Amino acid sequence: MSVLSKPYFHDEAKAFEYLESVLWSGGIVCPHCGVVGGRVYELKGKTTRVGLKKCGECRQQFTVKVGTVFEHGRMPLNKMLQAVYLMTCSKKGISAHQLHRTLEISYKAAWFLAHRIREAMRSGDLAPFGGEGGVVEVDETFIGRKQGVAKPRGGQRHMIPVLSLVHRESGQCRSFVVDKVTRDELVPIVLQNVDRETYIMTDESGVYKGQFRKLFLGHGVVNHTAGEYGRGRVHTNTVEGSFSIFKRGMKGVYQHCSEKHLHRYVAEFEFRYNNRHALGCDDSQRAAVALKGLSGKRLTYVRAH
Ligand SMILES: [Zn+2]
Repeated sequence: MSVLSKPYFHDEAKAFEYLESVLWSGGIVCPHCGVVGGRVYELKGKTTRVGLKKCGECRQQFTVKVGTVFEHGRMPLNKMLQAVYLMTCSKKGISAHQLHRTLEISYKAAWFLAHRIREAMRSGDLAPFGGEGGVVEVDETFIGRKQGVAKPRGGQRHMIPVLSLVHRESGQCRSFVVDKVTRDELVPIVLQNVDRETYIMTDESGVYKGQFRKLFLGHGVVNHTAGEYGRGRVHTNTVEGSFSIFKRGMKGVYQHCSEKHLHRYVAEFEFRYNNRHALGCDDSQRAAVALKGLSGKRLTYVRAH
């Protein structure tokens, strides 16, 4: 039996019950007054919306969708749950075209839904990570195509750089779409995001030369050009591994990704990468963790391409 045959993927009332069980496992939370586990009344009746509740404290009405990625979506919740499932559990992601065919919704609706889910996947984590004598690997990759820039004979000036930081011990990754691979652009991102009690590992790029040794515990430099793929602890294999997953996905699924949406695809890959261990191998458990991760994130407006 396929996971997608579960009732909450096909029945809207069941979808509400499922989302409530995932998001309110510690008691119902009123999104208006914030009370947890307070008196809540079920509103029932022929014309009442599915899942509608009334808070006994502030007397306001709400459903479990309020404040989540699902709040303003017009399609049935069970279809949106299918979309989240497909986006979080397929290793490389899923294109809007595929969502449109699988969920039997319009391409436009699929495109907007996918971008809303991606937007919710952005971690927005601002506290520095690493620390405790651990290692953060720093590297850049190039992806896609800049608009209006001709392909040069050599080099990657026509592509969009993405900077990634991977904390080796926890396997957590942060990625940033950047304008240029320059010291001014990249070094501040590392300084803002990495705890000082960390060893930094980079390749031999001149951009990082002399920037980290004094500020962090140390700076290991891998010399790729000399054919040296890491001496013991000094390597960037973890961050390169994350790039290879990202690149395979971008090539296979998202062939026509425009520059202005790239940060959302980057966020989607980062979300899957960062949740890969916590999620275990049980797909329905993975979807539940993803749903928790996606809730409570107010979404910004997504503009069409
Ligand atoms: Zn309330």
